[in-house]
Amino acid sequence: MARLEETNRQEKPREHCGVLGILCDDKSQHVAKYVYTGLMALQHRGQEAAGIAITDPYKPITVIKENGLVNSVLKPSKIRGLLGNVALGHVRYGTVASSSVENAQPFLYESNEVNFAIAFNGTITNYNILRKKLESKGHVFTTDVDTEVIATIIAATHAVTHDWTEIFTILMKILDGSFSIILMTENGDLYALRDPLGFKPLCIGSFMIGDEEKIEVKVLASETCAIDALSGRVLAHVKPGEIVHVEYNNGIHTETILKAPQKAFCFFEFVYFANAASELDGISVYDVRKRLGAILARKNRINSDNTIVVPCPDSGRSAALGYAQSAHLPFEEGLMKNRYITRTFIMPGQDQRRSLVNLKLTPVKKIIKGKDVILIDDSIVRGTTTRKIVRLLKQHGARSVHLRISCPPIRYPCYMGIDFPTREELIAANLTVDEICKNIGADSLVYQEMDGLLEAIGIDATGLCTACLNSKYPLKNPPQLEILEDSFTKNR
Ligand code: SF4
Repeated sequence: MARLEETNRQEKPREHCGVLGILCDDKSQHVAKYVYTGLMALQHRGQEAAGIAITDPYKPITVIKENGLVNSVLKPSKIRGLLGNVALGHVRYGTVASSSVENAQPFLYESNEVNFAIAFNGTITNYNILRKKLESKGHVFTTDVDTEVIATIIAATHAVTHDWTEIFTILMKILDGSFSIILMTENGDLYALRDPLGFKPLCIGSFMIGDEEKIEVKVLASETCAIDALSGRVLAHVKPGEIVHVEYNNGIHTETILKAPQKAFCFFEFVYFANAASELDGISVYDVRKRLGAILARKNRINSDNTIVVPCPDSGRSAALGYAQSAHLPFEEGLMKNRYITRTFIMPGQDQRRSLVNLKLTPVKKIIKGKDVILIDDSIVRGTTTRKIVRLLKQHGARSVHLRISCPPIRYPCYMGIDFPTREELIAANLTVDEICKNIGADSLVYQEMDGLLEAIGIDATGLCTACLNSKYPLKNPPQLEILEDSFTKNR
């Protein structure tokens, strides 16, 4: 059996996780249903596993987590039985090697001294070093994931101090990597923290419930689209190096613990990972994507009466719209996506692998026949899928296909939590732009330039991570590549 994820593996880089925390001061309110709604909105950040941890100030923490999409893991029958006014939620993407349900989150840490649940988005690059250190001190691990290492450090620190702010300050100093973490204590408080470079997004919001909408519920989430799905309002974006305490019956408190001289927000969140409806650190993802398209259009004009602008669904849509508006060209949905072909889709046999792109995308012949197609996508990783799409458009009558890519060439791997192929597999690491154009069979190929990327996002280079474009890795210690490669292949 050939799974689509194997066939099209890493056609796009993949985000690892989405996190969510919900707290209502009214203990008679059960928040599991809101976790379900919020996680559905964050589903794009991880489709392999989903989970919830729930409690109230007087009950032990209950965890449900399984492999699968949110709507299959958190079925209404399960949600109805989950009582509690405080909860954590998580959606996860992991590689095949790590698909065991034990590696799903939230992770529940239980000991005689302290109980808590934790949900995490990111990657700890000094994971192996930390794990070995902890093992040498007698700590035993039951999973392969860095969440357990983080939880163990928290528990070990809790043995020394019960001050959670102090615990997280120590944690931030020990961890190297990208992390947005939400933790739920057994007393029913929520804490959130974001790494000092701010790789991953994290925001705070609230929404109202009850007959007259007088009961406030507080939310912590990877993206604002989760708060929108709950009809809430965004209160703030967690700052890099900041700790947020959502305290039962005592409001929200924030404290910046570690301030790095620069930030390193993952630019790919804007280009591809995040929901276009989200705002990241106050910047609209949709606006950025449209600006990326408009800047590309400025750079290179194609003048023909026959020209149409077509997005690669769904990720190229906003950029294609920006391109079309800026170039005064018609925007056409020339490729239709089969929404039922998901990562879990199973093909009946190996020999059918080649037809997966044809199954996933159907060209609208009437629109593309005889046209010069400007095809907009957000990135090219290996080039395999792009080549198939270009061929598909030509087979269905496109006169020419001009590929425009809204981010600069990806030439280097990511060691901060994004599932990229190795350098050998990245097409832009091995071929020039002209060679790539020839390789994928396009009539022309233009990438976004770094200046255009920064202009579209509106943050200068000191505020973003762009390491997969230029190898300027922003971590405080140089990443230990062998250990990380090892970690990616064995532990995730
Ligand atoms: S290397 Fe690229 S994908 Fe990884 S965090 Fe940096 S910008 Fe994001």
